[in-house]
Amino acid sequence: MTHVFHRHLRSTPPVADSAAGMRIRDADGRSYLDASGGAAVSALGHAHPDVLAAMHAQIDRLSYAHTGFFTTEVAEQLAHELMRSAPAGMSHAYFVSGGSEAVEAALKMARQYFVEIGQPQRTHFIARRQSYHGNTLGALAVGGNAWRRAPFAPLLVPATHVAPCYPYREQRADEAPAQYALRLAAELEAAILAQGADRVIAFVAETVGGATAGVLTPVADYFRAVRAVCDKYGVLLILDEVMCGMGRTGTLHASEQEGVVPDLLTIAKGLGGGYQPVGAVLAQGKIVDAMSQGSGFFQHGHTYLGHPVACAAALAVQKVIQRDELLPKVRADGEAFGAMLQQALGDHPRVGDIRGRGFFWGVELVADRGSKRPFPAALKLHAAIKKDAMARGLLCYPMGGTVNGVDGDHVLLAPPFIASRDD
Ligand code: PLP
Repeated sequence: MTHVFHRHLRSTPPVADSAAGMRIRDADGRSYLDASGGAAVSALGHAHPDVLAAMHAQIDRLSYAHTGFFTTEVAEQLAHELMRSAPAGMSHAYFVSGGSEAVEAALKMARQYFVEIGQPQRTHFIARRQSYHGNTLGALAVGGNAWRRAPFAPLLVPATHVAPCYPYREQRADEAPAQYALRLAAELEAAILAQGADRVIAFVAETVGGATAGVLTPVADYFRAVRAVCDKYGVLLILDEVMCGMGRTGTLHASEQEGVVPDLLTIAKGLGGGYQPVGAVLAQGKIVDAMSQGSGFFQHGHTYLGHPVACAAALAVQKVIQRDELLPKVRADGEAFGAMLQQALGDHPRVGDIRGRGFFWGVELVADRGSKRPFPAALKLHAAIKKDAMARGLLCYPMGGTVNGVDGDHVLLAPPFIASRDD
């Protein structure tokens, strides 16, 4: 009998025992090809010697010091490294232990920014349907995954949810991508005006949507149009790249491919590649300056923020990605991976759409290709696919999302950047 409070309480998962490179081995000796890096986490695969060595060295030197008392050399180095490659105008990295914490911190930073600059009436967030920003209450409030929100809805602060950029289902047949982008931006503008232009704190969006609707790649111009609307009303743009960031789409930040610079950028999974729980919020200088010149304090914090071993792991992961030139590899092999998926699955009667960038691909499953009708939720198709794939030694990340109010199924493939074409 297990005493671990597992996610699923009617079955106990296999015991993961060891891992190296692309493979995880369970206690019964079964080996699994890790085609999803967990949930797009393991950017370098498992047991990378450089990352392990960096973590060991940090543990031997200093394994913990509370950030209320100290900074550490390794946190400073990691922040320096992240700023070197950050979007224009970013000045500081705020370290946390994961994606939900990063989103919570970003929401509070945005709110406190407006308090500091004398606009405390801004209290409302606008985000998107079919999005996921984490499971804590603030992140869940902006998230648009209906199933995850449902039991907790009465506890969530009200937020407005507009349409995500979801060309497969929501771009009209007679609409060019640029027109679709403008229609979505107009919807955002209407939502801002409905709240009152001076009452909105921020628009929150995943640059490339991940865990709710499969990989949602935006059309060109969507984020530029959205950025322009935010700027018009002084609304901040928070981009959540917890899943799609840190190289996953072939550039360090997915927003680089959209030609926009966010005010706050959340990163997590690929930052530490699963070697340690670590995430960060990258913040524009104007936000940090408002706090440093105002109260002098960000009114937030967790015991483990800036944990030295987590920072050492993240720093090592990022150095390996650069040294081994993994981003150009992800771009080149990602294209080949997409072509392989198209070739293998493109004509399958149950595959509605295959979309992605770099090493971040989603396969949307439909009961009927013509009408794009999803499978009924009660079928729990995603659970069956996960089980069947594992039985065949493959780890992929199937999900049931919500498509126009109806549940839909997708399989996410997000292999470690080290994956070879043979893998
Ligand atoms: N934001 C996005 C875009 C995510 O995909 C996730 C996790 O999947 C989160 C936030 C939450 O991250 P975590 O599970 O580390 O709390």
